[in-house]
Amino acid sequence: MITRSESETEALARELAAELGPDDVVYLIGDLGAGKTTFARGLAAGLGAVAREVASPTFAILHEYAGPAGAIVLRHLDLYRLADRPGELAILGLPDAVAGAPLAVEWPGDAIQKVLPPTVRVSIAPEKEDARRISIHRASPESATSPKGV
Ligand code: ADP
Ligand code: MG
Repeated sequence: MITRSESETEALARELAAELGPDDVVYLIGDLGAGKTTFARGLAAGLGAVAREVASPTFAILHEYAGPAGAIVLRHLDLYRLADRPGELAILGLPDAVAGAPLAVEWPGDAIQKVLPPTVRVSIAPEKEDARRISIHRASPESATSPKGV
């Protein structure tokens, strides 16, 4: 699937959001500037988040998006600045701290794959100018060795 603008990428993410449940873990794969955070914003919007994140979450690690009643509709984990070590994830309280709502993960490494394996992989690759090639793959159930939150 090719998107040609930021808003098209958000629209695609909204479509995926409609299929997500609380146990889903969406890995966002792609280089800096590919559109991972944009995609996560689209997921949040599609899940009914009321307050849009205005700043790039580069300097925060865990973002929580809430719906109108205050319930968390999506969490967004950005591991860019975190060392890929189990101890770092334990300090964040993972996986317990992200139970009960869908999770999007930017920059997943080996450590997180062990505690929060993906149920969906979204890969974003830049094409010409503002075009992005986006592929969405749901992981097969048998490959999920440890369900989220367990
Ligand atoms: P990442 O989180 O992968 O580093 P961001 O989502 O923060 O990337 O930034 C993506 C940048 O690319 C934004 O400045 C956005 O406006 C721009 N952009 C241009 N075209 C697209 C597109 N088709 N999809 C997503 N972002 C796009
Ligand atoms: Mg980002």
